[in-house]
Amino acid sequence: MNVPEPAGIDRTVVIVGGGQGGLTLAVTLRECGWIGRIVIVDTEPGDPYQRPPLSKGFLTGDQTHADLVTRSRELLARDSIELLAGTTVIGIDRERRTVALDDGDPLAYDVLVLATGARPRALPLEGASAHGVHVVRTREDAESLLSALRRAADIVIIGGGFLGLELASAAAHFGRVTVIESAPALLGRSLSAPTARALAARHASDGTTLLLATGVARIVSADGHATGVELHDGREVPADLVIVSVGAQPNLELAAAAGIATADGIVVTGSLRTSDPAIYAIGDCANYPHPHVGEMVRLESVQNAVDQARHLAAALAGSGAGDVYAATPWFWSHQAGQNLQIAGIAVPSDDAVVVEENGRRLTVARVRDGLLTAVETLNSPRIHIRARKLLARGPAPADAIEGLAYDLQSTAG
Ligand code: FAD
Repeated sequence: MNVPEPAGIDRTVVIVGGGQGGLTLAVTLRECGWIGRIVIVDTEPGDPYQRPPLSKGFLTGDQTHADLVTRSRELLARDSIELLAGTTVIGIDRERRTVALDDGDPLAYDVLVLATGARPRALPLEGASAHGVHVVRTREDAESLLSALRRAADIVIIGGGFLGLELASAAAHFGRVTVIESAPALLGRSLSAPTARALAARHASDGTTLLLATGVARIVSADGHATGVELHDGREVPADLVIVSVGAQPNLELAAAAGIATADGIVVTGSLRTSDPAIYAIGDCANYPHPHVGEMVRLESVQNAVDQARHLAAALAGSGAGDVYAATPWFWSHQAGQNLQIAGIAVPSDDAVVVEENGRRLTVARVRDGLLTAVETLNSPRIHIRARKLLARGPAPADAIEGLAYDLQSTAG
């Protein structure tokens, strides 16, 4: 009788990046029965941690350092997952199948997974390197911001995206906050106009000043410390703390230097494989063909990183080999006391149908060519869950909105 070989016997998976995607991949591989060696290499020191609280509860004091940790080194060791924390992969030798480390001998792999994430987009402006100018991506960034917030009075946030607005909410606990956004509306690429307007109103009622359609000329500084932000029209907004939040760019240089195809991210197939069949990419750094959208996308969300990691783990361990990754995207953001959730994936030109507007609650359906593409909710988690089910296989016929309405009746009051 032929006994199947356990998954991964004598094979090594090296994962570059121990963030949300890399960590989930390692843990899920073990759960799927992979018995080969698993090594995570991450530039950041310490236990792997989650980023979402860094712009929310960690700044307001609702979440501590310990709450950030996703899995301790002790728990990883119990699952025989090796973590090289504080170590950077500086090169890939695709012929030898090794990666070069900044602090040790090369590491051999059979399968290499790039889960390198993204980093804050830099603002090429005069004054951008002054003291008092912050970005937020890492635990260290958030710690440094928190100590600066405790001393700040006038806080300016450049960029009114999800992250900038979350930071505005947290900063409002400490001082006067101004958000400067170059587009005429907040979150215009990600949200419908009704949802964006509702969020803007709630930020304004928190006392945050929103300057829309406003360009930044430079960050003004004195003695090397930021003192204000000069706008294109010549006005100056005073600031003793400036947070730059103008988007993220994928960490793709390692892949590009090894000759792996990159575009806006590391290009992968529907099964998350790069142009080298022994190398995969997942999470914020991966640019993949999403079947629900019909084009290449690169998503920056916990759901995307975690679901891609789980999909890849199952494929590598043999239980889903060859399957195309097609999970329905969903996203959340907490800001201005609002629980914003999005199920599905819309493009800016999709119609916006307000399904419910009731005090604190708002539900907006996005529709394109008779299909429901996404559902945005404020403070309606049950509707969000219902929407995720409706959209589980991609865009649904627009009359599926009636299914949401049914849920609205059952949750009324
Ligand atoms: P990351 O978690 O960024 O991990 C990548 C890791 O790779 C990093 O630890 C990095 O050090 C390491 N690395 C990179 N290059 C190398 C190298 N050469 N060698 C070794 N290590 C390397 N998403 C949501 O869905 N909801 C939210 O509310 C939300 N809030 C957020 C708040 C903040 C402040 C931030 C920064 C992000 C937030 N996100 C949120 C986005 C979410 O955190 C990311 O989408 C998610 O972390 C992506 O996971 P990842 O594994 O792809 O990348």
